[in-house]
Amino acid sequence: MPLRPSLLDPLFAPAATLPGVGPKIAPLLDRLLGEPGRPARVADLLFHLPSGGISRDLKGSIADAPVGEPVTLSVTVAAHRPPPPGRRAPYRILVEDGTGDVSLIFFNGHKARLEKLLPVGEQRYISGKIELWDGMRQMVHPDRILDERGIASLPAVEAVYGLTDGLTSRMVGKFIGSALERVPTLSEWQDKAWLERNAYPAFNDALQALHRPDKASALSEEALLKSPPRKRLAYDELLASQLALALVRSRMRRLPGRANAGDGHLVAKLKAALPFGLTASQDKAVDDIRSDMVADKRMLRLLQGDVGAGKTVVGLLAMVSAIEAGRQAAMMAPTEILARQHYERLTPLAEGAGLTIALLTGREKGAERRRVLAGLADGSIQIAVGTHALFQEGVAFHDLGLAVVDEQHRFGVHQRLALGAKGEAVDILVMTATPIPRTLALTYFGDMDVSILNEKPAGRKPISTKLISIERLGEVAAAIGRSVANGAQVYWVCPLVGESETVDLAAAEERYDHLRGLYGDQVGLVHGKMAGRDKDAAMERFVRGETKILVSTTVIEVGVDVPNATIMVIEHAERFGLAQLHQLRGRIGRGSEASTCLLVFKGPLGQTAQARLEMMRETEDGFRIAEEDLRLRGEGEVLGTRQSGLPGFKLARLEVDGDILAAARDDARLIVDRDPELTSTRGEALRTLLYMFERDSAIKLLRAG
Ligand code: ADP
Ligand code: MG
Repeated sequence: MPLRPSLLDPLFAPAATLPGVGPKIAPLLDRLLGEPGRPARVADLLFHLPSGGISRDLKGSIADAPVGEPVTLSVTVAAHRPPPPGRRAPYRILVEDGTGDVSLIFFNGHKARLEKLLPVGEQRYISGKIELWDGMRQMVHPDRILDERGIASLPAVEAVYGLTDGLTSRMVGKFIGSALERVPTLSEWQDKAWLERNAYPAFNDALQALHRPDKASALSEEALLKSPPRKRLAYDELLASQLALALVRSRMRRLPGRANAGDGHLVAKLKAALPFGLTASQDKAVDDIRSDMVADKRMLRLLQGDVGAGKTVVGLLAMVSAIEAGRQAAMMAPTEILARQHYERLTPLAEGAGLTIALLTGREKGAERRRVLAGLADGSIQIAVGTHALFQEGVAFHDLGLAVVDEQHRFGVHQRLALGAKGEAVDILVMTATPIPRTLALTYFGDMDVSILNEKPAGRKPISTKLISIERLGEVAAAIGRSVANGAQVYWVCPLVGESETVDLAAAEERYDHLRGLYGDQVGLVHGKMAGRDKDAAMERFVRGETKILVSTTVIEVGVDVPNATIMVIEHAERFGLAQLHQLRGRIGRGSEASTCLLVFKGPLGQTAQARLEMMRETEDGFRIAEEDLRLRGEGEVLGTRQSGLPGFKLARLEVDGDILAAARDDARLIVDRDPELTSTRGEALRTLLYMFERDSAIKLLRAG
């Protein structure tokens, strides 16, 4: 049952209900602004901000008109120059004023129509951009050609919109005009003093100012990013998302927690058994976690650390803490391969400390599965390692105290909540290897406390990264042969082209055949289409050093740890995003030997691809790379938000709105502290805000709680 205030109904009506949007136009708007399975709605049009503006001010003479900027000129039509018969040249019309002339250029121009539009000797108003061509002024397809009556009826400034084929900016502008008329009067949900301090207009006024500006300059990209009306709407959107997170957090916190305190003897025993000492930031993280667990509220903590920073052992020590307190602990990984690897690495440590540990993935079947399920239910298994299979129905724990989730960004908020349901007051520790820039961390994990591992374990050697043109692939293949002869192991990654897995696979198989031709049985292959067991077997042969060169698609991206692997070749590196390159490269440089990463690219490189690869050569700092990635691509793709189902933003741009994001988070926390049920006057208005930006699943929690 939708509980959205009916006041908002007009905004959530399909765009097809607007005047002029018929069965031809509606699908185009859906393509522009809808989502799969959901048509474009009136609100989507309102939040579709202009990408620029055209001024209808008459700006002086032809001679003075600036080149490359939109201008409107008053001109007299001097001559028509149709293309010579049979030639595919454009149709030209010469117009002039007292100071100079301009050629209007029409491709596929229709003679009769143009003669009617621009009769020789008549005065007309034209707007568009002037370009210089061989020193001559010309204007290709003017935006507007108007007579005296036409110009009188135009607004001084017209907003220009991003489009899809078949729509014109004018049509979209008209629909948005109708949409603006449907915006109801809403109670202000923002703090009045905050609005004043920032010179933010009211919600309706902000929409009006953006779509109906009185100066075209207000809509230049730069001005728009800074303009108070856009900032205000971006702040609305950010506050809605932060408020939703804060509500989830406060509800989890209000659920009774339990003190999961032990005496520390097992933790000490395990630390002593480790073949290395912890880094200072690992120690700090272990302490943070322990004090959370000892407190009688629920822990919700994010452990963030670059690839290779050593998160797993921190997770293990947390689990051991829970066991000391007499509870069970679980570690969930996003893939089979990772779950198995964690299991294999943790087993000797756990068993050495006298603990019982078991593996549960979708692949454990029959008797083995029944044994594990029984052990979890009666508490005889203390540590469970697995995939999301751990948290499906039918898996019951005797007394789960802690859930550790590895590589969080693949899981959504809902799964996070599902975890909590497996026990009475389960503490949650989320580990992520994606170096998330601060701004993004606030957005997606605003409801969590954060521990950061900001140093690599001692003894790691820097990775040397080289860019190599694909024409030199032969040399690369020869060089890795020499390294393998000296005992090194090599990852060779082939890209996902994206269009068809079959094609990607073919590329990886072809490389595999090629390298096998050179190095025989030392070469292995692993890719996403292999059956789980075959994939594991191929990985295991590489882990044990039976194969020396592992050709793969990007399935090795996450988490795999083979310290002896010191060389990584990434073919078509220009096709990968920065974050992905960084994740891949993080697979090497894990042992004590120096490592090399070869980024093999196919030129010529575009500007962005060039910048990306050079960034990789310059630094190994995952946070710097992530910030750069955000700058180059915008926030949408950095976390793969689309795939992970995390909500994206319509108005806020994280690369420029970091300042107000932090403010929104603080604001949200304050609101939830003072008015946890959103029942005050402002609270009521904030509920409307949550619906407006579709963050209302948090409101369901209020009702349930
Ligand atoms: P990630 O943070 O990427 O998950 P891992 O937990 O897989 O990293 O750790 C990477 C490697 O570093 C593992 O082989 C692990 O045993 C090792 N390691 C972890 N902490 C330390 C440390 N303090 N000193 C030395 N090696 C460590
Ligand atoms: Mg890891």
